[in-house]
Amino acid sequence: MAIERTLSIIKPDGVEKNVIGKIIAQFQESGLNPVGMRMVHLSQQEAEGFYAVHKERPFFGELVEFMTRGPVVVMVLEGEDAVAKNREVMGATNPDEADEGTIRALYATDIGENTVHGSDSPENAEKEIRYFFSDVQYFPGN
Ligand code: ADP
Ligand code: MG
Repeated sequence: MAIERTLSIIKPDGVEKNVIGKIIAQFQESGLNPVGMRMVHLSQQEAEGFYAVHKERPFFGELVEFMTRGPVVVMVLEGEDAVAKNREVMGATNPDEADEGTIRALYATDIGENTVHGSDSPENAEKEIRYFFSDVQYFPGN
């Protein structure tokens, strides 16, 4: 295992439910510490660009509408095995299938409004971090 960085987003439903603090506490209790954080209200273009891999999926329009309906908290989380650890702490995409105690089991409304995003591989983590944060801050060696 190695120290990694991953991208996390507290989605609009998480912000609306006033659980930003609880979610960040849960990450920190799991060894995932924010090293970068911004609260932003995504434009349609920013949300479409971020989720471009899903543009052919039937739920794409709904996803973009949801992700732009209010502010989100975008974070770079750092820790041992951060990419996989974050996915574990988040729980399954569908909260009905998420393990007890995971963020999605605790707070998500449904498969769409599922409270958090997390990068699914180290390669995508690097791309997603670059999408929201400058190289100077997070990739000083590059
Ligand atoms: P994850 O966020 O767990 O990596 P995906 O990458 O498959 O899941 O999907 C991205 C996001 O698209 C999900 O987190 C969820 O907000 C939304 N989504 C996925 N599947 C559906 C679906 N069947 N209906 C509505 N929204 C969905
Ligand atoms: Mg995904």
